[in-house]
Amino acid sequence: MHAMVLNRIGAPLEWIERPDPFPGPGEIRIKIAACGVCRTDLHVVDGELPHPRLPIVPGHEIVGRVDRIGEGVSGFDIGERVGVPWLGHTCRKCAYCASGHENLCDAPQFTGFTRDGGYADLVVADARFAFPLGEAGEDASLAPLLCAGLIGWRAFKIAGRSAGRLERLGLYGFGAAAHILAQVAVKQGHEVFAFTQPGDRTTQDFARKMGAVWAGGSDEAAPEKLDAAILFAPVGALVPPALKSLRKGGAVVCAGIHMSDIPSFPYALLWEERQIVSVANLTRRDGIEFLRLAPQLGVKTTTRLYPLLQANAALADLRAGAFDGAAVLIP
Ligand SMILES: [Zn+2]
Ligand SMILES: [Zn+2]
Repeated sequence: MHAMVLNRIGAPLEWIERPDPFPGPGEIRIKIAACGVCRTDLHVVDGELPHPRLPIVPGHEIVGRVDRIGEGVSGFDIGERVGVPWLGHTCRKCAYCASGHENLCDAPQFTGFTRDGGYADLVVADARFAFPLGEAGEDASLAPLLCAGLIGWRAFKIAGRSAGRLERLGLYGFGAAAHILAQVAVKQGHEVFAFTQPGDRTTQDFARKMGAVWAGGSDEAAPEKLDAAILFAPVGALVPPALKSLRKGGAVVCAGIHMSDIPSFPYALLWEERQIVSVANLTRRDGIEFLRLAPQLGVKTTTRLYPLLQANAALADLRAGAFDGAAVLIP
């Protein structure tokens, strides 16, 4: 098999050839057709997340076809199209797993971080964390749903639950996750307000195209008070302005796995039962729910394709904000 491998934090990924992996008990092997490039991959490469396994093959928005089935796995056919997300394995024993919060498992494995991911032509996955994708839609268009879509969906549900009622939703940072969630939220009858880097008119136009009723800079105030705001940008300094944009009882949801420090702010911004919450990982239920819902709602992802060999260029372009939507690697 071929893969792009991270050998050392901060170093460019290296193209390698290694023997094909074999699925162990409970695992399947997948021939990869597409793998999305997520901001988390940048955090992995930059060493912003603790305890990566090195060397590691990054990538956790995997779409491919089952090509080998390990012992004890049922429910998959050879050739079936599946998707593999960030949460790649859970212990099934800890208190979180036992209480339906497997996203918080004490002994998890993460695809492309602590187990090899999708910047490759083959990957072995825990069959419990591989979602059947059916045959509708292109491989590359589906890939961003596996993390950008899923984490957005989980953040959206938490926003609704925390805020109590959710009509006006703010999205800070309008990249891969926001461009998917905006479509979902608009189709479900919510109003979306998009906050981009100040002066980024191109992304503001893109947000309006995705259905936002308003788009402006993160230094601007929304024209109306918001019920909730989701922060996709990994920028802690956005928390105080996001709080300021909320009505009483509203919620700021931090959706990133890593964020720069949140500066201190006057208590008055939090007062009146406003909340700040974070979103961690996903549960299989989120995955099944969302991957069923997205095609029903006609969600269309905007993608920029790169050959697998150009993974470093894709990461650099993501870092530079050089494209709208999501980058996807094709082996
Ligand atoms: Zn667990
Ligand atoms: Zn991700």
